[in-house]
Amino acid sequence: MKRAVGIDLGGTFIKAGLTDENGVILKKQQFPTLAEQKSRDVVIKQMEAAVEFALEDAGGGVAGIGIGTPGVVDDKGVVFSAPNLPGWDNLPIKKIFEEKYRLPVVVENDVNTITWGEFLYGAGKGYSTIICITLGTGLGGGIVKDGKLLRGGKYSAMEIGHITIDYRGPRCKCGNIGCIERFVGRDYIVERAVKAIQDGKKTLITELVNGETKEITPKIISEAYKQGDRVATDIWIDVGVCLGALFTGLVNLLNPDLIIIGGGISRNVEIMFETIEKKIKEQAMAKLAEKVRVIQSQLGSDAGIVSAGALVFQK
Ligand SMILES: [Zn+2]
Repeated sequence: MKRAVGIDLGGTFIKAGLTDENGVILKKQQFPTLAEQKSRDVVIKQMEAAVEFALEDAGGGVAGIGIGTPGVVDDKGVVFSAPNLPGWDNLPIKKIFEEKYRLPVVVENDVNTITWGEFLYGAGKGYSTIICITLGTGLGGGIVKDGKLLRGGKYSAMEIGHITIDYRGPRCKCGNIGCIERFVGRDYIVERAVKAIQDGKKTLITELVNGETKEITPKIISEAYKQGDRVATDIWIDVGVCLGALFTGLVNLLNPDLIIIGGGISRNVEIMFETIEKKIKEQAMAKLAEKVRVIQSQLGSDAGIVSAGALVFQK
């Protein structure tokens, strides 16, 4: 069976593994990214250590190296404007690694990578058109259309987090107004809880953080929700309504079979998933929304490695 090296580049860790065509990880290890040293050569050296770990004793039959990286990636495997990584701009990663290891190298934006992994091995297996987002500090997204990872003209694109859902809304860090990320990014979910408490609403969230509002996280809000707290439930419904507005547009555009939501913060928050589905059914064109389902991602903590390996197995 063919195998691939999967490299998941993050701001803190580089996760590396050797994977097979079925998405099984044969070995894995993580390396510190050392981004704090503010040198792109240091980060590249760490990535090389990661690749060499994966290739060690792998023998022949390694089909290539897949790399998932933050930032925008062009059609030549050059990375631009990655936040949190020093000098990760105009960087020809594909060329650097192909020359060094004499293997085909596929470089893709990290969330596009996860989307491809979920399509091949995870929640999206067996479907043809899927949209996948990850909720975290920001909102990242990717799309597989008719079995192919969707990209822009030259660049990886799919900056779903910066689609406007309110043209009179608050300004986003990207410069646009009312981006979905400005409503469902980690800090903005927390902001709702802080405001509710400041408005004098009684909620379990206050007890869970012993009155320290700066300790509130989406996870705490989820916990309060699971215990039946009204304020927490309303927050997740509101997040669902915002995402429902986003996905209504995307369903009208793409008629997907499936919407996958990953990222730890909304794990098992059923009410959010139900609200998104309800809003899509109410608001999108009936025929286009008929079959779409909204579900959680399935690949878990090694998703980045499996998905990066999967890049090599694109048709
Ligand atoms: Zn934005």
